[in-house]
Amino acid sequence: MSGKQNSAVGEQQSSSSGKRKKTPKPETRLAMVRRARRINRELAEVYPYAHPELDFENAFQLLIATVLSAQTTDLRVNQTTPALFAKYPTPEDLAAAQPEEVEELIRPTGFFRAKTKSIMGLSAAIRDTFGGEVPGRLEDLVTLPGVGRKTAFVVLGNAFGVPGITVDTHFMRLARRWKWTDQDDPVKIEAEIATIFPKSEWTMLSHRVIFHGRRVCHSRRPACGACPITHLCPAYGEGETDPEKARKLLKYEMGGRPGQRLKPPPDYPGDPAPAVGAIE
Ligand code: SF4
Repeated sequence: MSGKQNSAVGEQQSSSSGKRKKTPKPETRLAMVRRARRINRELAEVYPYAHPELDFENAFQLLIATVLSAQTTDLRVNQTTPALFAKYPTPEDLAAAQPEEVEELIRPTGFFRAKTKSIMGLSAAIRDTFGGEVPGRLEDLVTLPGVGRKTAFVVLGNAFGVPGITVDTHFMRLARRWKWTDQDDPVKIEAEIATIFPKSEWTMLSHRVIFHGRRVCHSRRPACGACPITHLCPAYGEGETDPEKARKLLKYEMGGRPGQRLKPPPDYPGDPAPAVGAIE
C-alpha cells in the first residue's frame, strides 16, 4: 500500500510570500491521460490475476451468465448456472426447454421470468439465425433478446478476444471519481475512455477497474485508507481513511475471504466461492 496521498492531482506550490501555499490548478488533459494510464499500470500490479468473475466454459455459457447477472451478484449467478448448464448445455436445448423449468432453475438470480424469456429467446435466435453458434460481432450480438452493448462487450472481450470496455456500475463510479470523465451515460463514458487507453488495454482495464470497485473503492464507503492508488486519486478521502478501519472494508481475496467464482483461474490468490448458501 502506498503512503503517498494525492500528490499527482493538479496542485501547485508558491513561495512568493515566504510561506508555502497551495494553489489549485486544473489538471490538463495530458496530465489526466498520464495519470489514468498510471492508474491502469498500478492496478495491473495489484490485480495481475484480474478476470471476469462469472464462471463459464464457452461463449454460450458466458452469454447466458452475463444476462443472468443483471441486478444480482456474479456469485449468485455462479451458484445457479451449474444446474442450468448441466440440464441445457446448448442453445438448442435451452430454446426447446419448458419455461417453467428454466424459471425454477434461475429463480435465485431474481427477475427470473424476464430472464427466462431473454435466455430462451436468445437461444432460439442463435439456433435459427446464427447456425447454433454465438456470433462474434457486436452488431449481431446486440440483436439477441436481452443483450445490450455491455453484455456484448463482455462476451466479445472474454470469449472472442475482441477488445472492449465494459462500463458497468463499478466502472462508471470509478471513472468519475478518477476524473477520467464527467459523463453519466455509459455509451458516452465508453467513447471517452476509448480515447484515453490503447485498444489492446480495453478488456484488461475493464477487469482491473471492476476488481478495484468491488474490493476497495466501494460505492458507499470506499476503503481509502487501504487503497494502493491513493496518490493518483482525486477522490481520496471520500471514504474511510483510517487504515485499520479501511482494511476491514476490503472484500474477497483482498479481505482474506473467498472470491465470486466457484472455478477461478489457476493464478487467483483467494479461495473459490462455495457452491451454495453464500452471500456476497
Ligand atoms: S478507495 Fe478512495 S483513494 Fe482509492 S480509488 Fe477509491 S476513492 Fe480513491
